[in-house]
Amino acid sequence: MSVPDYDLEAVDLLQQLIRNACVNQGTVESGHEVRSVDLLEQYLGTTGLELERFEPQPGRASLLARIEGTDPTAPTLLLMGHTDVVPVNPDGWSRDPFSGDFEDGVVWGRGAIDMLNITASQAVAFRRLAESGFKPRGTLAYLAVADEEALGTWGAHWLVDHEWDFVSADYVLTETGGFQLPSPGGPRLPVMVGEKGTYWTKLHVHGTPGHGSQPHRTDNALVKAAEVVLRIDRYRPQAQIGEVWRRHVEAMDYPAELREAFLDPDHIRAICDELPIGLGRLAYSCTHTTFAPTVAHGGTKTNVIPDHVELEVDIRTLPGQTGDEARALLLDALGDLADYVDIESNDDGSTESPIDTPMWDALSRVTARMVKDSALVPFLMVGGTDNRFFRRAGSVGYGFALFSERLAFEDFSSMFHGNDERVDAESLGLTEQLWRAVAEEMLT
Ligand SMILES: [Zn+2]
Repeated sequence: MSVPDYDLEAVDLLQQLIRNACVNQGTVESGHEVRSVDLLEQYLGTTGLELERFEPQPGRASLLARIEGTDPTAPTLLLMGHTDVVPVNPDGWSRDPFSGDFEDGVVWGRGAIDMLNITASQAVAFRRLAESGFKPRGTLAYLAVADEEALGTWGAHWLVDHEWDFVSADYVLTETGGFQLPSPGGPRLPVMVGEKGTYWTKLHVHGTPGHGSQPHRTDNALVKAAEVVLRIDRYRPQAQIGEVWRRHVEAMDYPAELREAFLDPDHIRAICDELPIGLGRLAYSCTHTTFAPTVAHGGTKTNVIPDHVELEVDIRTLPGQTGDEARALLLDALGDLADYVDIESNDDGSTESPIDTPMWDALSRVTARMVKDSALVPFLMVGGTDNRFFRRAGSVGYGFALFSERLAFEDFSSMFHGNDERVDAESLGLTEQLWRAVAEEMLT
C-alpha cells in the first residue's frame, strides 16, 4: 500500500507528541504540556495565523488557533485534542512507550490512541486548510488542551470558566468514537453524543480498636470493610434502557433476538455475561449505574484491631440520573452495613448532546463518502472527556474520529490507558481527511 504524504505528516507530528511524554500524574507539577504547545505553535506558526497560549499554571499550557469566519452569525466548529497522557508501566510493553516507533505502518507509544492521534491529525487538517486559503463563513478553531487526564482542571475546565470568549464554540469535536463496528449492513461508526457522570465516593468504615491478640468478638473495621467491598462488587442495580442506547441498538442491525435482549431491562444482564468480554463490559456500562471499589486504606499495626478503614468507589451515573439516586443505590448495596459507614461523594453529573443536529448530518454525509456502506450510530461514552465542560456551557459536543478496519474494537478498547498503545497510519490519514471534510461541510 502506498502511504499518501499527509499520513506521514500526521505520523511525524504524532511521533513528536509521544516523545514529549506529557505524563499527567494528577499533580499540578506534572504534565508539562508546554512542550507540546511549543511544538504545535511552531507547527501551526507557518500559517501566519495568530495563536493564543494559555498557561494557568507553569508548564500547564494550552494552545488555540482560529480561522475566522466571514459571517459572524455562522457557527463556530472547534476541533479539540488533549496533549497529556496517563502514566505507564513499561514492564507490560513490548517497546519503549515513549519512543514513538513507526514500523509496518503503525505508530507505537503512550497516547497513540488516547488521544495524541486525534490531536495530531486535527493540527494537520487545520494547517492544510489554513494553507489552502480556506475562507469559511463560520469559524474553525483548533484547541490543544492540557490536563484532560486529571479532570481538566488546568485545561478545558479552566478555559471554559475563564476564557470562554476565546474558546466558545457552537460545535465541538474531540475524542473518541468512529471505530468500525461490523454489522450485516456494513460498518457502523459510533458517535459519542453523551457521557456518563462520575459519583466518586469515599466510604469511612468504623469499628472499635482493640488488641490483635484477642480478636474474638471484636468490632474490626477491616473485616467490615471487606464485606462492604464484596457487597458493592456483587451489587447489580436494575438496567436502564436510555434514549442513546435504544437508538444505538436500533441502528446496529443486530439479529432480532439480540436486539430484543439489548432493549429489555430484564434480559440485558444475561446477554452482557455471554458476549465477548469487551462488548459485554461496554454494553453493561451503557445500561447500568456501575460501582467499582478501587482503593482501600486501613489499619495501623499488626497487633492493633483497626477502628477505621477508608474505601474509594468509582461510581458512574447514567444520563438523567441524580447524585441522590446514585446514593440511594449505594445504600441499597450496603444494606445493614450502611449504619457503620460514613459516605462522602463528589457528584459530577452526566452530559448529553442532541443527536439530531447539523453536526450529525455533516458527519453522516462525510463518512458515507469515506467509508463504504457505513452509517453513524449514537453511543454513550462510559468514561469522561473534556466534552462535558463544553456541553454544560451550551455547545453540541461529540466524540468522533475515524479508524481503519485494521483496528479491531477489542484491541481499541483495551489500549486506552493500557499496554502497547498504537495506531495505524491509515487511521491517522482517514481522521485527518475527516476533519477537513467536516469543516468544509459545516462552515462554508
Ligand atoms: Zn483521552
